[in-house]
Amino acid sequence: MKKVTLLLLTFLTIQSCTTTPSGSKAFLLTSMSDENKQGEEAYSEILKTSKIVTNTKQAKMVETIGKRIAAVANQPDFEWEFKTIESEEPNAFCLPGGKVAVYTGIFKYAKNEAGLATVMGHEIGHALARHGGQRMSQQMATNVALAGLAAVGLSGMDSNKKTIIMAALGAGATYGLILPFSRKHETEADEIGLKLMAKAGYDPRESVNFWDRFSQASAGKAPPEFLSTHPNSENRRDHLQELIPGVLPDYQASAKLGLGQNL
Ligand SMILES: [Zn+2]
Repeated sequence: MKKVTLLLLTFLTIQSCTTTPSGSKAFLLTSMSDENKQGEEAYSEILKTSKIVTNTKQAKMVETIGKRIAAVANQPDFEWEFKTIESEEPNAFCLPGGKVAVYTGIFKYAKNEAGLATVMGHEIGHALARHGGQRMSQQMATNVALAGLAAVGLSGMDSNKKTIIMAALGAGATYGLILPFSRKHETEADEIGLKLMAKAGYDPRESVNFWDRFSQASAGKAPPEFLSTHPNSENRRDHLQELIPGVLPDYQASAKLGLGQNL
């Protein structure tokens, strides 16, 4: 029996090694349209139970920055949305399909538009590289009860399965389960995010300052959820520094908004 399962998994692995839009090889049992559908469902569930902020200066900035990033992200299969959620928690996410949420608690760390573009670019990087789909696939491969769930709507799942899938997609905390992204996924999201912010016109050098502000402010306190799901390894800063010269030409060729307005 074990052998059969192993063979099946081997087969699935061979069958499902896909190249993501970011160009890296990934283990995917889900299709992009399944992921996007579930991302959309998860998004509307979260929005239903959250206080959405509209019409403030910051909420408009979230939308403006999001649209600028979407314009250079080159992902026609996404139906982008950018919402601001009232919450003390410094957090942000982008679900499959381009469903972005920024929590008001992260504004004081973002400080300016370029800081916010760092966060949003990073989150959008996770979605473009289909990290949610990859985590869902990993869960399905290791948990028989979840196998074949990709095409099922969230509303048709029992609450345990739903919690796991929501966490894999990147919206877990709402349901009490947090799945950190792997170091590989973090690095990849940093790389994609940095390129996106530079192309969108924001000074990529501010990314390093954002991560510095964020880790300093949360030092010695219980880490915010954003840091639990986005482990801030010591080498994140160094790696971003190394990458910046490579994206400066993109920034020079852009509308060059610098740091943008203060939040
Ligand atoms: Zn991340």
